[in-house]
Amino acid sequence: MPEIAPIPLAQLTTLRTGAAPARMVDAFTTDELVASLRAVWAEGDRWFVLGGGSNLFVGDEPFDGTVVRILTEGIERLASPHDGRARLRVQAGHDWDALVAYTVDEGLAGIEAMSGIPGTVGAAPVQNVGAYGQEIVQTLVEVELLDESTGEVSTVPAAELGLGFRTSVLKHHHGSEPQRRAVILSVTLDLAEVGHGERPIAGAQLRAALGLTPESTVTLRWVRDHVLETRRRKGMVLDAADPDTASAGSFFQNAVVSPDFAATLPPECPRWPVTPDLDTPVVIPLAAYDGLAPAPTVARPEVKVSAGWLIEHAGVHKGFRLPRSRASVSTKHALALTNRGGASATELAELARFIQGRVLSEFGLILQPEPVLVGVEL
Ligand SMILES: Cc1cc2nc3c(=O)[nH]c(=O)nc-3n(C[C@H](O)[C@H](O)[C@H](O)COP(=O)(O)OP(=O)(O)OC[C@H]3O[C@@H](n4cnc5c(N)ncnc54)[C@H](O)[C@@H]3O)c2cc1C
Repeated sequence: MPEIAPIPLAQLTTLRTGAAPARMVDAFTTDELVASLRAVWAEGDRWFVLGGGSNLFVGDEPFDGTVVRILTEGIERLASPHDGRARLRVQAGHDWDALVAYTVDEGLAGIEAMSGIPGTVGAAPVQNVGAYGQEIVQTLVEVELLDESTGEVSTVPAAELGLGFRTSVLKHHHGSEPQRRAVILSVTLDLAEVGHGERPIAGAQLRAALGLTPESTVTLRWVRDHVLETRRRKGMVLDAADPDTASAGSFFQNAVVSPDFAATLPPECPRWPVTPDLDTPVVIPLAAYDGLAPAPTVARPEVKVSAGWLIEHAGVHKGFRLPRSRASVSTKHALALTNRGGASATELAELARFIQGRVLSEFGLILQPEPVLVGVEL
């Protein structure tokens, strides 16, 4: 195993918390990654894999196990079985935004609205990353997966990953065990070959965020540039010079509630039905396609409500911090908790619990954290 001297996780996570774990392994190739994980599993050691550390909230006590850093890289272009489309197989450790930049350079559409999301390609399906109505589920064909239960590598179609709103069968929710303990080695996406010309933009949410009408025509690069600009204004692009980006992005998930519960919330609270954006194409893997498209309607769809609105209307404003705490709500975005320099996980957890308590007493629901919790409870 390519073991290295353990590095404090505060240096490898964007929330900047956590001590050095007991053991750390750097895997630069898929063979190293597979061999290291099999060795750790054979020993029965506790473990987790680390990508860009941008969706992790790590506690102050050292992790008593092995952290395997995924540092594999590479994009391979494959033929798509569909006219006008291209497939990319990308190694798990490849930087997500570098992949998006590559697709835009190549004139391939499907992930450009997710420009600027930090982290690695392998972690993207774990919580079905998304922004402005685009989610990886819309273009994901399959992943190569190493399962802990068998120690074997298999190719798993996207349809078997349970991809939903910031979730999959691989995600550790609120510190719990995932449904499937496995590591993604590579990801295959199916993208549209649209070139560099101007075209109308699919997706009402994306158009609204960028101030476009259904008739507007823009290039892929225009979309990427404007998404990056919009995200920077909200502190959602990592920037060492911007303390609002020492975060895990949205710390709380938008809450998904029943229509009856949603009716008890103030009418001004923004809400959206939990249905697919019908304006956005959904890729159905060929092997799973039986000639029928999935029915788009649900009898009484659940409702997604804005966690940011609930937080601000529970009296927690942007920039809020508890007395003497080095953790604060971002000055640009009510959903992001930030480390203003040297904050411990305990300080961040106190702030998170305070916000959960305020929202619970004002609106009667418990906001759930979006990042994966390691050695910390909320
Ligand atoms: C400023 C900022 C903005 C953000 N904006 C968004 C956004 O718009 N949309 C969004 O969806 N997310 C957003 N995020 C969250 C985060 O960037 C994504 O969840 C990202 O995919 C995490 O990638 P990572 O490599 O950093 O994962 P890590 O934080 O390293 O890991 C997260 C979890 O995935 C597991 N994991 C990592 N790699 C693998 C693998 N190859 N196989 C199996 N499990 C793995 C880890 O063990 C851990 O449990 C944002 C975060 C920040 C800091």
